[in-house]
Amino acid sequence: MTPTLNYSYRIYPDSKQETMLDEWLEICRRSYNYALRELKDWIASRKCPIDRCSLESEYIMAASYPFPGYHQQQNQLPKAKKVFLELAKVSSQVLQTNIRRLHDAWDFFRNRGFGFPRFKKYGQMKSLLFPQFKSNPLTGWQIKLPKLGKVQINLHRPIPDGFVIKQIRVVKKAMGWFAVISIQSDINLPEVNAPFGHPLGLDVGLSSYLATSDNYVEKGRKFFKTEHRRLKVLQRRLSRKQKRSNNYEKARKKVEKQHNHIAFKRKDYQFKLAHKVCDMGDSIFMEDIDFRTMAKGFLSKHTLDAGFGQFRDILKYVCLIRGKYFGLVDHRGTSQTCPNCRTEVRKTLSDRVHDCPECHYRCDRDVASAQEICNRGIETTTLGLRGKETVCQVEVSGVMSLDNWRRGIPLWAEISRRESGSPRYTA
Ligand SMILES: [Zn+2]
Repeated sequence: MTPTLNYSYRIYPDSKQETMLDEWLEICRRSYNYALRELKDWIASRKCPIDRCSLESEYIMAASYPFPGYHQQQNQLPKAKKVFLELAKVSSQVLQTNIRRLHDAWDFFRNRGFGFPRFKKYGQMKSLLFPQFKSNPLTGWQIKLPKLGKVQINLHRPIPDGFVIKQIRVVKKAMGWFAVISIQSDINLPEVNAPFGHPLGLDVGLSSYLATSDNYVEKGRKFFKTEHRRLKVLQRRLSRKQKRSNNYEKARKKVEKQHNHIAFKRKDYQFKLAHKVCDMGDSIFMEDIDFRTMAKGFLSKHTLDAGFGQFRDILKYVCLIRGKYFGLVDHRGTSQTCPNCRTEVRKTLSDRVHDCPECHYRCDRDVASAQEICNRGIETTTLGLRGKETVCQVEVSGVMSLDNWRRGIPLWAEISRRESGSPRYTA
């Protein structure tokens, strides 16, 4: 398995390039909407039996008209270019991936049964994907993009040796322009599909952001209190401006910038925390809770602000590149069970301490549920064999080093080695 990493950099297009990029985004938005219209028309003209008409008057496509799937629509692009001359301004691969994007959304809708793709309003298309590069587009402080030319880039962190650039997504944000570079390497990473080493249960929550089964508690925080206060001020100012005026646009940009700022800061915090967690254990377990339902409760605003779902995704990714195991366990009743004797201990949200009446085990409430999560992680995986079946010598001395040997070098160590350019470690 060779994982793909996404490195994100700021780019600084000059004013000419910026107008070009803006124009491309607008062209992509229109072609996206055009393709979506075709898809919708096709569906609408086939929803009634063949011998009667729809009650609403609508455009009916011929029965022989094929379903506008991805390949069908992509093949139409060269023809469309002759009619809509502006399409030729954009790189054809960018247009193709743009259509691909619509069909990804459509497939997503069909699999889940909700979330039908929507028309994009003016300014809602915010990114362009360049899917292929024959040669390395990076030249030190510039990046070469098709049809756009060389754009200045802040390569604040080098692309490690041996990594190839697969694709580049150019994203427009209120803070400026960004290039998200997907890189892949020749490192063949052994997949960690069995837990090993030191197990660690994690419980996330609002009063303590994170608690581990080893008694580590990351204090709960109202994320970025000052930042949110500023956001509120900006939003209030925006609401007083006259819509579509210049001042409205300026104020809207400021609000968007503040949103960006908070999101960046949160993500940074979560990445650092994820690495910290990976330092503490080898097999990491979390609850399989759906954080979106949690966000519907009365603390919804703070739950959304904490971004637990995003944290879980980030942790999963960090575990992958650091060669750690990540597993999910059943979330039901983790906070109501004593991790020591496994009896049910009822608690309300305000009980901060776990105190078991059966075995008199006493600890922090969040730590207790983290320990219960850890228990479940051990029980449901092969780790459980270690403690119980000592008779058949599963627990041999040196099992840790054996595990490490089996896993090979974690990708993370390899990347930091390549980034710093230090020689390969040889035993
Ligand atoms: Zn107990």
